[in-house]
Amino acid sequence: MSDLPTSAPPVNAETKPYWDGTAEGVLRMPRCDDCGLVIFYPRSICPGCRSRNTTWVELSGRGSVYSYTVTRRIGGRWQKHTPLVIAYVELDEGPRMLTNLVDCDPESVAIGMPVEVRFDPTGEESAVPRFAPRP
Ligand SMILES: [Zn+2]
Repeated sequence: MSDLPTSAPPVNAETKPYWDGTAEGVLRMPRCDDCGLVIFYPRSICPGCRSRNTTWVELSGRGSVYSYTVTRRIGGRWQKHTPLVIAYVELDEGPRMLTNLVDCDPESVAIGMPVEVRFDPTGEESAVPRFAPRP
C-alpha cells in the first residue's frame, strides 16, 4: 500500500464489478465474448465491435510500462509525494491503464519495465490500482 492520496471513485452499475474486484485485491474487467477484447474502462458495450456480449474476467495484474512521466512539482495534497510517477501500464491481457508507479525510485523507471498491481484502499469498498516493479 502506498501513501499516495486515494479518493473513492464514483461507482455505477457498469463499473461496480470492477470496483468490487479492487476491494478484493483482484483486477477484474469485462471481456468481449465475440472479439475477445479485454475492455478498459469497464463498460457494457465492446468498443472494438459494439457487441453487448461481455463476461467479467479476472486478470493477472501483470503488465509493463508503456509510457510514463515523473512529476516533480505539484500542488495541494500531492505536493509532499513528489517526485511521483504517472504512467500508462499495458496489462498482459491488452488494456492500458493510466496509473501511478509506486515502491520504486522514479529515476529507475523505464519503458517496458515489468510491473504488477498493488491496491490502495479508499476506505469505501473500493481500492485504487497502482503498479510496482516486479522482479
Ligand atoms: Zn468485441
